[in-house]
Amino acid sequence: MNITDKSAIRECTSCQMCGAVCAHGAIEVRLNEDGFYRPYVDESKCTDCGLCKRVCYKFDNEIKITTQGALDTMETYAAQSLSDDLLTHVTSGGVADALAKELIRQGYTCIGVNYNDEHHRAEHTIVTTEQETDVFRGSKYIQSYSFDAFKMLVKTARTTKYAVFGLPCHIYAVDRFLSFRKLRDNCILVDLFCHGCPSMHIWNKYEKQIKEDVQQKKFDEVQFRSKVRDWGSFYVVEVVVEGVKAFVSKPSRDEFYSLFFCDHALNDSCSDCLLRSTMEYTDIRLGDFWGKRYVNDRKGVSAVAISSEKGSRLFIAVANQFKTERRTMAEVKLGQSYGKTYPTRWKLRKEILLVIADETRPLSDAVDLFYKNAGLGMKVKRLLNTINWYLPFDLKRLLKRLR
Ligand SMILES: Cc1cc2nc3c(=O)[nH]c(=O)nc-3n(C[C@H](O)[C@H](O)[C@H](O)COP(=O)(O)OP(=O)(O)OC[C@H]3O[C@@H](n4cnc5c(N)ncnc54)[C@H](O)[C@@H]3O)c2cc1C
Repeated sequence: MNITDKSAIRECTSCQMCGAVCAHGAIEVRLNEDGFYRPYVDESKCTDCGLCKRVCYKFDNEIKITTQGALDTMETYAAQSLSDDLLTHVTSGGVADALAKELIRQGYTCIGVNYNDEHHRAEHTIVTTEQETDVFRGSKYIQSYSFDAFKMLVKTARTTKYAVFGLPCHIYAVDRFLSFRKLRDNCILVDLFCHGCPSMHIWNKYEKQIKEDVQQKKFDEVQFRSKVRDWGSFYVVEVVVEGVKAFVSKPSRDEFYSLFFCDHALNDSCSDCLLRSTMEYTDIRLGDFWGKRYVNDRKGVSAVAISSEKGSRLFIAVANQFKTERRTMAEVKLGQSYGKTYPTRWKLRKEILLVIADETRPLSDAVDLFYKNAGLGMKVKRLLNTINWYLPFDLKRLLKRLR
């Protein structure tokens, strides 16, 4: 039986590992009608070997969840790069970039995510030099097309030391494959604290809209979360064309982030994802150090949670490039989706996804549909976010501290 087996106990995460491990090329990966990557099986090529199911979250009834005791003692840091220049290019405190470069120096081949403007998508990409890791900088808040890179990893993992960066669902799948082949010890896996991944149709529509607005066919750089205002002002997409900022979004009209945070246009598996709430498959998890402690910081502070000896040694190797402070996982978790599920109104979600997929309708229709159906709390939050944007930094931070 293959990945289409009806005995699945969960939804697909879009990690694409099922297709990568298939030795018969029976699984193709495409966007489904809602804009999420899904496997499509050519039954005439399938030999029922079952490998696709072995690496899949949908069929795993033994997901390992990290115990409270292990979380309580987990080596956890706040870290900020000493390079101000680097901090303008990365999303948080720049730890991912330093780790990737260190791993290349240690002889690993790195797999991380870059943005491909020609294909209008984020892609897992394989690199072997420090300079090439620059394309991984900055979070691309969309699903990554990982099929080709993971296929290469599957093919060459016996002879190549890989370091893989990705969301918890990617890292889980890579861990499953490597553990199954008894190759996990050769590799190092780094994942991210994760809110979830929205439909690709949102980004594709949004990107098309911006290109029309700024009358450009090509973007040289896209920062999905620009620090043009400061680190904490989340709702900002910035686009650079020929060295000039061509577009900076404003919260009052940022449909991409409105839909990202409404939680009703995320992948089917995101609402109750177990993988964002366990540290069992990764060596290091990175995120933003949200919460009151660094609320006055404008440049970005990373949260670094370390879950293996290998992860610990790796972080020690780059620690001198950072201002670091020892913290607790309990404090980091306060600002994260770790351990949480999102209440989803599935009928409303389907309606929103239909509007998003409809080429004749603007994204604002989907945002309006969500807020028309949202409770008062959500509407007030939206208003406060818009007001917040126009407040001076110090006042904004003071209000955050008081919350
Ligand atoms: C979809 C998504 C949701 C996230 N949700 C949260 C959250 O809820 N809380 C939180 O604290 N942090 C979240 N993050 C992580 C956060 O945005 C930063 O990536 C992280 O703090 C590392 O930042 P940095 O400054 O160390 O490095 P950066 O240079 O910003 O590192 C980016 C790293 O992320 C990888 N990456 C970029 N885009 C993707 C992608 N689409 N899929 C997989 N890997 C990618 C790159 O390969 C690189 O290693 C999320 C990231 C993504 C992509």
